[in-house]
Amino acid sequence: MFIDTHAHLNHEEDLPRLSETVARAEEAGVKTIVCVGWDLPSSARAAEEARRCPALFFAAGFHPSDVNGCRAGDFDEIAALLSSPKGVAVGEIGLDYHYENTDERAQKKMFAAQIELADALGLPVCIHSRDAAADTLQILRDNRAKLTRGGVMHCFSGSPETAKEYLKLGMYISFAGPVTFKNARKLDEVAKMVPKDRILAETDSPYLAPEPLRGTKNVPENVVRVYEKLAALRGEELEALAAQIEKNVCSLFPKLAAWRQNGENAHG
Ligand SMILES: [Zn+2]
Repeated sequence: MFIDTHAHLNHEEDLPRLSETVARAEEAGVKTIVCVGWDLPSSARAAEEARRCPALFFAAGFHPSDVNGCRAGDFDEIAALLSSPKGVAVGEIGLDYHYENTDERAQKKMFAAQIELADALGLPVCIHSRDAAADTLQILRDNRAKLTRGGVMHCFSGSPETAKEYLKLGMYISFAGPVTFKNARKLDEVAKMVPKDRILAETDSPYLAPEPLRGTKNVPENVVRVYEKLAALRGEELEALAAQIEKNVCSLFPKLAAWRQNGENAHG
């Protein structure tokens, strides 16, 4: 069975199709999906959908491109959402210097503050880093003592050298559609080198559809393509890789593991 550790099924306009999208993923063997917020309303929608839908778990937090929408009191709201048994991480958080006129100072401050929030809540972090590897590493190093529950570099797209630095900090490395792209030689190297107990897979739906679906709206069932590419690159059997990633997901997200454990017990 496959797990999509990072999908945005919580855009308002996508909600009417959400049950269908999840059902199609389950038919493809994708039995668990972590739906990720990027601000307070999207985090609240992710929490609500996770409450309704057995396959869904969620992360709540402020994406670096949305930090200016954060108001006093919002952290309390995020914390309240994450008190749900299906709230598994603070995220996505991090740094994104891709666009012009980014407020780097505000992003850094919010990144550090949300690492602190994760520590206070006893949860891991889900990290977005785009065109900002040096500062992301610096903030993680400066806040290492607060990364008590670890975290994941979501949609990793950096160099093998950068990946090594994140691994040294105890982070998991999650691969998305870009690892299937034909010009992804650097990323191929990273996929081969990440230790098996630190690798994860995701779609980052609705973005970054994998080959050969590149350019289409991405959905969680497509995570199977990411698994297939990772298995081929690493010379592993698909099933063995899937079992390993499931183990990794349970180590990184203890609340997800506990919920599934309880569900199994509840169903005898
Ligand atoms: Zn994302």
